[in-house]
Amino acid sequence: MSDRRVIARVNVSAIERNCARLKARLREGCELCVVVKADGYGHGAPASARAALEGGASRLAVAGSREALELRQAGIEDTPLLVMGALSECELREALDAQADVVVWTEQHVRAVGEAGGGRVHVKLDTGMGRLGTRDPLQASRVIELAASEPRVELAGAMTHFATADDGADGFFEHQLRLFTDWTAQIKAAHPDVVVHAANSAAALREPRAHFDMVRCGIAVYGMDPFWEDPFAWDLEPALELISYIAEVKSCAPGESAGYGRSFVAERSTHLGVLPVGYGDGWRRGLSNNAEVLVDGARHPLVGTVSMDNMTVDLGPSTDSARLRGSQAVLVGRQGHERITAEDVAKRLETINYEITCGLTRRVPRVYHRDGEPLEAQEVDAPPAAEPA
Ligand SMILES: *Cc1c(COP(=O)(O)O)cnc(C)c1O
Repeated sequence: MSDRRVIARVNVSAIERNCARLKARLREGCELCVVVKADGYGHGAPASARAALEGGASRLAVAGSREALELRQAGIEDTPLLVMGALSECELREALDAQADVVVWTEQHVRAVGEAGGGRVHVKLDTGMGRLGTRDPLQASRVIELAASEPRVELAGAMTHFATADDGADGFFEHQLRLFTDWTAQIKAAHPDVVVHAANSAAALREPRAHFDMVRCGIAVYGMDPFWEDPFAWDLEPALELISYIAEVKSCAPGESAGYGRSFVAERSTHLGVLPVGYGDGWRRGLSNNAEVLVDGARHPLVGTVSMDNMTVDLGPSTDSARLRGSQAVLVGRQGHERITAEDVAKRLETINYEITCGLTRRVPRVYHRDGEPLEAQEVDAPPAAEPA
């Protein structure tokens, strides 16, 4: 039974185990940096970060300075933290105040770090992603030397990011890997303590030569497949389940409809279950007449238009359906022998699994557990935990 209209149940033990499994695949001495940007891909950043550290991560990464600050305020104080994104002047100060490492690729960036009070920097070479970083290895090397000599600045890392690591048959990945390997060989010769890192989850899983000194894993940590197909094929456990319930059951005669625009009209007598969840929760409108929900251990089609707060499923013609009022409804997760993954939902929306969990809104309480055991209240920093109604 779900006690709330909709909850995201997050198993921190799954996050721990996913980290341990990733760690076991890494080259000897390679560090696991877990990416908890976008509120831990929708799972909740502080709880995900703690679970990751339990599971063997030694560092954390986020995209913005606010995210760094949030982790520090949640009591994650001593773990090395990398802000990977671009930073405005005030964001740079915020990141450095949070004792986070930052990414640089110009001499001005390095000087700005010094002027803002100093901090640790990672120099980024753009080997082909075409976003942040400099494309010029000579420029990147000059920034390395300045960072190594500038007062109050510490040269901490050298990095890049792959554009096509999730595309198994791609030559561009090899091209990027070669550029980065060549550049960092020189950097390491002069600065042996620099932490060299490139791999996201996909690269970490597919290519040990991309491991270097550290990998930056996000999606796999949450038990989703970086190749968007099947997390179980990589021995990853999905950490998040999205659970609602059947708030109402009504019989529906042929010709009767459900929802805005009457996009579903019953062709036969059936029963409709109303679920109090909608696009205001991040269950997107593109899933209208285009998803399944697990109720009573079986798959039921979502019918009609997903509205902001409600949607309907076809429970079938059996008069027995009325007893399903109050039943748990699983939108993502397992029930009985059936399972719906974020990957399944993503395919229906022609997007990727990342967007499914990141898109869950603040209105959905994150409820944490360890393999079914609720976490202690003080371990939880989500909205108030669900109480039985
Ligand atoms: C988000 C991000 C990652 C993590 O990517 P996953 O595919 O989720 O493992 C790594 N590095 C950078 C620079 C990122 O922005």
